[in-house]
Amino acid sequence: MPPRRTSPASATVESHINEIDAIFAGAGLVRSRRGKAAGVRDRAKYQEKTPEELRPAPAQTLRAANGVEFVPVHGWEKISWLWHGFSTRVGGVSTTYAGEGSDGELNLGFTADDSRENVLRNRGLFAEAVTGSAETPIATIRQIHSSVITLADAASAGQPGKGDGQMTDTPGLLLGVMTADCIPVLVADRKRRAVAAFHAGWRGTVKRIVESGIGRMRLEFGSRPEDLVAAIGPGNGPCCYAVGEELLSEFTSQFSYAPELFHEVYDSDPVKQKYPMLFLTQRAPGHSPIGPSLHLDLFEANRRQLLAAGLRPENISLAGGCTGCQRDLFFSHRASQGRAGRMMAVIGIRG
Ligand SMILES: [Zn+2]
Repeated sequence: MPPRRTSPASATVESHINEIDAIFAGAGLVRSRRGKAAGVRDRAKYQEKTPEELRPAPAQTLRAANGVEFVPVHGWEKISWLWHGFSTRVGGVSTTYAGEGSDGELNLGFTADDSRENVLRNRGLFAEAVTGSAETPIATIRQIHSSVITLADAASAGQPGKGDGQMTDTPGLLLGVMTADCIPVLVADRKRRAVAAFHAGWRGTVKRIVESGIGRMRLEFGSRPEDLVAAIGPGNGPCCYAVGEELLSEFTSQFSYAPELFHEVYDSDPVKQKYPMLFLTQRAPGHSPIGPSLHLDLFEANRRQLLAAGLRPENISLAGGCTGCQRDLFFSHRASQGRAGRMMAVIGIRG
């Protein structure tokens, strides 16, 4: 027998909300989007945004004849001596991170889940897509979230050193940095024909890897900032990169512009906004289950470092794309709970 309705539906909903509020209050929490959730300090100075407002423009990809899809930098095709590109997961022979029955993918990192043979084959395919030859050597480094920058030459491809940035003026090789959420940054000196690639996660960004990297280019190659062009590649965007308060402290202690790098992000779904508890299990780790989450914009942080190093704003490009939002296109360490392939950003001087 169906329950007898003794009150209008809205009154029933209201009483449910009151019950939910009582449970929240009992746990020291508040439901209201304007209220402060547990552990959230006063962050009135940060702009409130929804993920949609913060999402970067989607990346425009190029599909090579061998099936590899990569992201070129708009306008860099005019620099005739330059090779460059940001890889995606599309193309390649790895199947370990792909859904069942799907095509091979372009995992470019020696991860525990993939075979060395697959990765080497994928690197050859990527080199071919960018340079026309699978034999073009790629110099990689053992990345350690530092601000260490190494000078690469023809011998570097066989023996990776440790660090998070590489630069060279030697033609015929690609410099590669690997990411799966972190921000890759590529730089080219149009006058002196020198190039650099940087890996900037939050740690490297706090250590100013990009800013000090430009300084190293000045030292090694006599680069002038006004001759440099830079591109910030796909990574975990401000729409997705929820962080803890400790990162706020780290960035605030280092950068006067830190307040501009953080946003308070509210889920734009009104149901989720009202009943965040109901969606607890659907949220990725690192996201605050209740109330707003603090999001860091690593694209902007690295753009600010390029500006601080003297680059002209019009010479800095954003490749677009977010690894958290475009999971069919990019590998994301966060979105796949740590079990992800690796993408590579490469730059080189035509041999
Ligand atoms: Zn995103």
